[in-house]
Amino acid sequence: MSDSVPSPYRGRFAPSPTGRLHFGSLVAALGGWLLARHHAGTWLVRVEDLDPPREVPGAAQQQLATLAAFGLVSDEPVVWQSTRHAAYADALARLLGDGSAFECRCSRSNLAASGGIHRDCVAHDRTRPPAVRLRVADGTRVVFADGLQGEVVQQVDREVGDVVLRRADGFWAYQLAVVVDDAAQGITHVVRGADLLDSTPRQILLQRALGLPTPAYLHLPLIVDGEGQKLSKSMAALPVDDDAPLPALKAAWQALGQPPAALDGARTVATALQSAMREFRPDRLPKVRSMTFAATHNNPVAGAV
Ligand code: GLU
Repeated sequence: MSDSVPSPYRGRFAPSPTGRLHFGSLVAALGGWLLARHHAGTWLVRVEDLDPPREVPGAAQQQLATLAAFGLVSDEPVVWQSTRHAAYADALARLLGDGSAFECRCSRSNLAASGGIHRDCVAHDRTRPPAVRLRVADGTRVVFADGLQGEVVQQVDREVGDVVLRRADGFWAYQLAVVVDDAAQGITHVVRGADLLDSTPRQILLQRALGLPTPAYLHLPLIVDGEGQKLSKSMAALPVDDDAPLPALKAAWQALGQPPAALDGARTVATALQSAMREFRPDRLPKVRSMTFAATHNNPVAGAV
């Protein structure tokens, strides 16, 4: 990340309440929090509770409690996406109104031949409820400079196709909600796991279609297990322990490429975070998309990697 950060810096952590926070999410939350503090900025938490079929009852409150146990507390009231339907509807109406978006009745099986990539509607059964998609013009290529991963290029028409904004089942797509909310909250810096690197070009296209600013993006390495599986998808996704946060906090610090010795003396979360703020250097963040990780002292994630 360049040092010429527009001020004021506003970052966020935006978990989906699909389960307990695991070590990989803690690394993303701590990394985002440290970057915000490093730039004397604001750090927000947003609950992305827009997909009830995937949600686990109570998970959002549990995730917030876990973050609090690690001293990671939103600087402003937590925004819940489930309260933001009117804002998404307004954005969708604008995109439909100016022809940037269209109704689509293609099913998954209709798109099987093109690997799920939508270019033209092949189904026109008016009895099916439509999805709404963003039209991606032929030849659309997005290039952006990620703060850690360098230049990212995606040929969005061929690699992704027309982007779903509202699903046929009526639920808002993550891509629309995240763009509307990052803009509404004035987010200047999106810091998150590298599993979302490939979503970023879609979000940039949507920002352009809606006339919204594009924040700076920095994608932290995804913590994977020995088989290269994302931790959250593997059997090894051990939730972090709210009752004994210090070992996992120290391990997350180390996973962010920071020197373990800097937190050696810390006996509480508060003192660990104070030392972390003082010693954190963004140029030490690992410039990789994924990494296996085992802490060297007091290995709190043994068995998880
Ligand atoms: N809610 C998304 C997730 O938990 C993250 C969204 C984001 O950081 O842009 O995977």
